Amino acid sequence: MNFLYRIRCALARFMYGRNGVDQLSWALLIFELALSLLVPMLGIDALSVAAQLLSYVCSFLIFFRILSRNLVKRRAENAKFLSWWQPKKNALFGAKARLADKEHKYVKCSCGTYCRVPRNVGKIELTCPKCGAKKIVKT
Ligand SMILES: [Zn+2]
Repeated sequence: MNFLYRIRCALARFMYGRNGVDQLSWALLIFELALSLLVPMLGIDALSVAAQLLSYVCSFLIFFRILSRNLVKRRAENAKFLSWWQPKKNALFGAKARLADKEHKYVKCSCGTYCRVPRNVGKIELTCPKCGAKKIVKT
């Protein structure tokens, strides 16, 4: 056994039964890194000190969550975070996909549903598949 393999095994034994890295930890890490990059730009004042303190708190929370053995609580926190984050992520990726699609036009209905219609067909009457509302759309 080489040295690196033994270190890897020791780390695996240490992390056994611990929460490890999850989506909330990654989000906190990204937020902490953004804060760390922001602090030098703010200069030295109360806001900068507050951002630095918040960055330290985030670092502490990241290590606490990764090393925590209370899996039930950490998973509940992660699930709560994901239920907040997932709709925003889906909306972001949906908007990106709609922008990339040059063959269709996306019309948002009053119920919030995006209806896809082909481009360059002229005026058409669109019926929302979700709520049944009718709308005249120029494509
Ligand atoms: Zn609708």
